[in-house]
Amino acid sequence: MDNCEFCNLTPEEEKYLLYRSGYWNVYLADNQDYIGSCCVVSAVHYESLSELPMDAWVNLNEIIKALEPMLKETLGAAMFNWSCLMNNAYKSAVPAPHVHFLVRPRYKDPVTINGKEFRDLTIPLMSPADSARGEGHP
Ligand SMILES: [Zn+2]
Repeated sequence: MDNCEFCNLTPEEEKYLLYRSGYWNVYLADNQDYIGSCCVVSAVHYESLSELPMDAWVNLNEIIKALEPMLKETLGAAMFNWSCLMNNAYKSAVPAPHVHFLVRPRYKDPVTINGKEFRDLTIPLMSPADSARGEGHP
């Protein structure tokens, strides 16, 4: 796809490749508001989840089972937000959606890297008062 962002990554963008399988490429996301965020991009230009072959789903499951523990162990992630929105592709006059997932690790505790502290101020944790009432945030 000539106008697809992910089929035409620049050498600069390719420098953020962390892992490549036959079905998926895992990149460190450009937006690190949630430290350790990754983008898991289909290695083939599929335009919707319904186009993914079963082998890609199986491989995605393997990647999830490797990525989440790695982010828990290395950065202390408490949970993860996985999303597959692809909205930006439709902002183009000629949309070229390419299946990808954004993975946002979420943190209960601050993370310090190279002396810089990152805090996850919007993690949806149950407060002790909510917990006592059996209620929580959505
Ligand atoms: Zn593409």
